[in-house]
Amino acid sequence: MVHYQIIHCPHCEGTDLHKNGKSLNGTQRWFCKECKKYFRLAYRYKACQRETKEKIIEMTLNSSGVRDIGRVLGISKNTVTSELKKNSKNEPLLSDQRRIRQDGRIGSRDPA
Ligand SMILES: [Zn+2]
Repeated sequence: MVHYQIIHCPHCEGTDLHKNGKSLNGTQRWFCKECKKYFRLAYRYKACQRETKEKIIEMTLNSSGVRDIGRVLGISKNTVTSELKKNSKNEPLLSDQRRIRQDGRIGSRDPA
């Protein structure tokens, strides 16, 4: 009986992968030949997990502060800040939200 697991790249869902050594804690590192990115299947530090990154954005949109997010998710506030900076470069999601809020304020101040 042969057991195997098809591994997909978390960045591009590609399957053209090869093993790329092990991390210091012994987890397998993978390299995706399609998008040229490295990843692991499981991360021990919470800040590296994909769900945590999504939660940071979600909590920011619900107007939680950087220290609040760090305390709730169990990661450093500096990690939260750097993650938000990365997102503002790659995805204009947060800056768009700010623009919408500013427009809303301007609209409420000036009813005409
Ligand atoms: Zn990939």
